[in-house]
Amino acid sequence: MSVEIKKARYIVVAMVIALIIGGLLGYVGGETVSNLRILGDIFVRILRTIIPPLIFFTIGYAVASILDLRRLGSILVIVIIILIGTSIIAASLGVVSGLVFRPGEGIGLEVPPGYTPPKPATWVDIVMSFFSIDFSELLTVGGALKLIVFTLIFGLGVALLGDAGAPIRSFLEAGSRVFIKIVSLLMYYAPIAVFGYSAWLVGVYGPEIAKGYIKLVIALYTFALFHFIVIYGLMVWIAGLGPRRYFREQLEPFLVAFTTRSSVATLPVNMRAAERMGIPRDIFNITLPIGATVNMDGTALYQALSALFVAQLFGITLGFDKLLLLILAALIGSIATAAIPGGGLIMLAFVLSTVGLPLEGIAIILAVDPILDAIRTAINVSGDNASSALLTRILYGRFLQSTI
Ligand code: ASP
Repeated sequence: MSVEIKKARYIVVAMVIALIIGGLLGYVGGETVSNLRILGDIFVRILRTIIPPLIFFTIGYAVASILDLRRLGSILVIVIIILIGTSIIAASLGVVSGLVFRPGEGIGLEVPPGYTPPKPATWVDIVMSFFSIDFSELLTVGGALKLIVFTLIFGLGVALLGDAGAPIRSFLEAGSRVFIKIVSLLMYYAPIAVFGYSAWLVGVYGPEIAKGYIKLVIALYTFALFHFIVIYGLMVWIAGLGPRRYFREQLEPFLVAFTTRSSVATLPVNMRAAERMGIPRDIFNITLPIGATVNMDGTALYQALSALFVAQLFGITLGFDKLLLLILAALIGSIATAAIPGGGLIMLAFVLSTVGLPLEGIAIILAVDPILDAIRTAINVSGDNASSALLTRILYGRFLQSTI
């Protein structure tokens, strides 16, 4: 059995133990269960710290070494087409799930006193979210999208230099290898982090779910898993990768995303999975960092479903035109969502205000958002590898032998 599969098994075992211990501690009450969260926070802090250099080195190297700029252009165009296509499917599934499960009907929750809704992002904010104010902004995890835009330009500069840019190209290549190595070391700690986070979630949020959000949670999990198994299964099958290989290798990033609730933090683990699937490095070095920040099918599904949940909660019926608008808003909202825990909830304000729904809904969803965040983040990262597989098929026609 490969080391990777063993590590993924340890993660599953850690999660099962956490469910039991977290449930018991939550039942007993007290601080202990909240403190377990620290075990996961350590893991996420290390991951978040290495994200900006990892994005810079991997995308920078990938772009800098594409001497044929037309090829870079075609990779980006295909990625965008796949991204939009799959996110529209996901947002539509979100609408269907809301109509089938009707999670908001009959709950009638009160808005917490003193709650002020976040200011919804405008279209201008969304456009500007691609461009940093200054260099220092590029170094934060929340600035990942801006760092990608900067790195694409930087890599282009190196590529255009030709031979004169060769030393920088080698530097970028070595840098990307160093950071991927660091991540593989960090994965030995992953089961402990997963244990800490899962126990905390179950212990702290367990009672909340029981109160009636259960339908919303079930609706999201059912349709998110449908998207994962059927849509991604179909994509990798068309790509010729073989669904079994995809699901086997995707398990580890799926679980890491599920517990860290950050696509960007899971990026390094997702890259290793891509390598094991045989997706060429020059493809996933570009598609995965971009995908981690903008390709969020799980978030699109969640935002569409949550908007319907809010509408039902307040007894508002959305007509067909509003539902179409909702799908479009969820597509854009998911693209603009920051790949950090809870990022999708912030952009939900944009979705709700676009469709004309009360922003108070955000405060209501907040209580269970970490549970919703877990599955949507896992779907977000899994979609990036399914899309990369499709791109590999289109550009290469076949997959590589796994090198790790
Ligand atoms: N946590 C999600 C992610 O990192 C974003 C979201 O909150 O929807 O992919």
